[in-house]
Amino acid sequence: MAGTLLAMLVLSVVFPAVSQDQADMGRAAQTLDFDWFYLHAYPLVQIWSPGLVWLLLVGISVLLVVAPWLPREKKIEPATVNLEYCNGCQRCVDDCPYFAIQMSPRSDGLKYETEAVVDPGLCVSCGMCVAACPTATPFRSRSALVPGIDLPGLPAAAIREQIAVAASKLKGAKRILSFTCHGSSVAEELDAAGEVYVKVKCMGQIPPSFIDYCLSRNVADGVFLVGCSGNKCHYRLGADWTTERIERKRDPRLRKRIDERRIALAWRDYPHLHGRIISQINAFRNALPEAVPAATEVAA
Ligand code: SF4
Ligand code: SF4
Repeated sequence: MAGTLLAMLVLSVVFPAVSQDQADMGRAAQTLDFDWFYLHAYPLVQIWSPGLVWLLLVGISVLLVVAPWLPREKKIEPATVNLEYCNGCQRCVDDCPYFAIQMSPRSDGLKYETEAVVDPGLCVSCGMCVAACPTATPFRSRSALVPGIDLPGLPAAAIREQIAVAASKLKGAKRILSFTCHGSSVAEELDAAGEVYVKVKCMGQIPPSFIDYCLSRNVADGVFLVGCSGNKCHYRLGADWTTERIERKRDPRLRKRIDERRIALAWRDYPHLHGRIISQINAFRNALPEAVPAATEVAA
């Protein structure tokens, strides 16, 4: 940047930007030496004053110079590895869309050969690694829900708590619990329709075991997942990984005991699905098979 600034300064001395002298209405001009780059500022000089226009131009230049050091919109909290629960299976590495995880030799003396290591500079905090981790299961009741890898900003335990809160709001027959993501604007439509939902970073952050938990623990009669379609996913692979996990084509797979008729996937592909989510939920609700008796009490 310093080199560019120096080059601009040298160029301005060698080829100074000049403009036409004040008009002499008694002479016909033969040549015009307008500086076309700055021409757009001349009307402002007429309307304001030269001093004010200089102030504006200097202000904009200073803003452009300091822009790289201005605070970013929001600090991203990268995924963190909880070594105690990491067994070195490498699933998080396979599912990370940003190649932000690598396997390294074990550093804590546990019997496993490798451990996951997150590069905070590459992690975008999408949570897809959490859903990939076999230890991210909400069924633990004796120990705290701490997966091998987790998002500090929205950990798996907080999602389970959100599910427990949502469970208390679901009433009547054919209770539908929706999941939606921060990247989509579906929440407004769900709020307006009084639908109960849990919001996560990306659909790809929800481990299939959480859907299993909602259905087998009688939290809801149906689970409706609504996220952004393939190429619209803010984190690239959320729709793909979720679909493959629910269809039992990718680990961790949805367990066979779950009736897939109780799960709906809706990938919001603008503009086709805009305003149609609620009608899709209602169609899913109407098509749900009769509720099965409660297997277990809802437990957080
Ligand atoms: S998926 Fe979980 S257990 Fe497997 S390597 Fe990654 S953090 Fe460790
Ligand atoms: S949060 Fe997303 S980007 Fe970060 S390590 Fe996990 S999968 Fe990769």
